[in-house]
Amino acid sequence: MTEARRHAIVVGASIAGLGAARALANHFDHVTLVERDELATGSESRKGVPQARHAHGLLPSGYRILSDYFPGMMDELVAEGAMRGDLTGDFLWYQYGGWKLRADSGLEAIVVSRPCLERKVRARVAAMLKVTLLQGHDCESPVFDPEKRRITGLSVTNRATGATVTLEADLVVDALGRGSPSPRWLASWGYGQVEETTVPIEVGYATGVFERRPGDLYGSLGAVIAGTAPQSTRFAAILGAEGNRWIITLAGCLRDYPPTDFTGWKEFASTLPTSDTLDLVKDREPIGPIASYRFPANRRCHYEKLPDFASGYLVIGDAVCSFNPLYGQGMSVALSEAYALDHCLASDDRDLAQRFFREAARIVESPWAIATGEDYRYPQVQGRRPPGFGIVTRYMARAHRVAARDPVVLGRFFRVASLLAPPTAMMAPGIAWRILLAGIGAAPEIGPARKVALA
Ligand SMILES: Cc1cc2nc3c(=O)[nH]c(=O)nc-3n(C[C@H](O)[C@H](O)[C@H](O)COP(=O)(O)OP(=O)(O)OC[C@H]3O[C@@H](n4cnc5c(N)ncnc54)[C@H](O)[C@@H]3O)c2cc1C
Repeated sequence: MTEARRHAIVVGASIAGLGAARALANHFDHVTLVERDELATGSESRKGVPQARHAHGLLPSGYRILSDYFPGMMDELVAEGAMRGDLTGDFLWYQYGGWKLRADSGLEAIVVSRPCLERKVRARVAAMLKVTLLQGHDCESPVFDPEKRRITGLSVTNRATGATVTLEADLVVDALGRGSPSPRWLASWGYGQVEETTVPIEVGYATGVFERRPGDLYGSLGAVIAGTAPQSTRFAAILGAEGNRWIITLAGCLRDYPPTDFTGWKEFASTLPTSDTLDLVKDREPIGPIASYRFPANRRCHYEKLPDFASGYLVIGDAVCSFNPLYGQGMSVALSEAYALDHCLASDDRDLAQRFFREAARIVESPWAIATGEDYRYPQVQGRRPPGFGIVTRYMARAHRVAARDPVVLGRFFRVASLLAPPTAMMAPGIAWRILLAGIGAAPEIGPARKVALA
């Protein structure tokens, strides 16, 4: 049974909205992408996505979806100064008190600023003949028909003129991000309260942009330097970006917010477990002011648990689930959900919302377990730990140390972290025995300076 597929509206033209529009263009005659901001053609960040000024890593899972949806786009980004490399051979990872082995794992990744990536994806979506980008328009609310129990359109206001109009649609997709009013709207249409899970982490970011010079950071494309919970709450993410730049984000959990004055920022950097961040900036000045961002809590809306849902309506991206950003998952999860939407629409429309939200819940499961599993290592973080939490935490701490030497464990760990395999893949027998029987400490740590060539 197929409903009319004349017009779909996606509201919110950030990564989730762009992914959704790309997916819907495979199934609808016309797709309108509504966005509040006037979208710049350059790579400057915009008001609706304030997080874009901070380090944004794209996991290999998201990289693969973007490469599939937009063939050649990654090559274009590289031609514009982005850098592509192997997630473990060309990036440096200091976690759980040690450096991971620097060896290729075959997981391709790219470093590029978030505004540049978003602009490129937007250009590709906007170039699709079926897609219209309606920028400078505020979403007021979806239009609900109580008799048909369905959404029939979207009410929008032109920010320049103040004129409000209703756009008719067969499907409306909310990609409004973490502040989405969907739970409130659904309750007002009589669908009850959407169950929410929150795990507060109160992480603060402070990001500076710096010149990138040849040979910096052992010739790598970036580094993550993470303090070990629960003793340390501090992290750094150093990512190369187009224009020979480093985007360097310092972060602190549990209100251990990094300062935004350069002197205080460097002092914070000096308390990280390695000196690499400070060494990198000690003879440079930030390009422009240091930007800050505060993120209160992991938050998940369980739309899959609602017994009934308005026809012609879906929610995607951060509006469904937003994670502690330290694990770099949000964009890749949003893109995976767009992919799932595409597949859901490839069959008929029966129970579309139920099928889509079931899929979205399945997609969210692993990144949610990874992000909250790490956050729960701080005893102050509230929330019910999953069964066996203590054992799994000790096992994973050991896995991290083994991944400093064993390329097989290294590869498996980063497939899981990249959302290409579920966390249970770390427990597979062939991996578990390597983790449990490895002679940790028997050989000296290899460190980040040398890339190890595997036979
Ligand atoms: C500090 C920080 C760092 C992050 N780092 C990473 C990272 O390293 N890797 C990663 O993958 N993810 C990261 N994320 C998450 C990532 O930014 C999001 O997951 C990603 O942008 C997808 O979100 P979204 O498209 O669902 O929503 P958003 O990006 O929040 O976009 C919502 C869109 O809706 C628009 N909008 C809002 N209200 C209206 C309205 N009324 N009418 C019309 N339009 C409206 C906004 O302008 C915006 O374009 C980070 C997040 C934060 C906060």
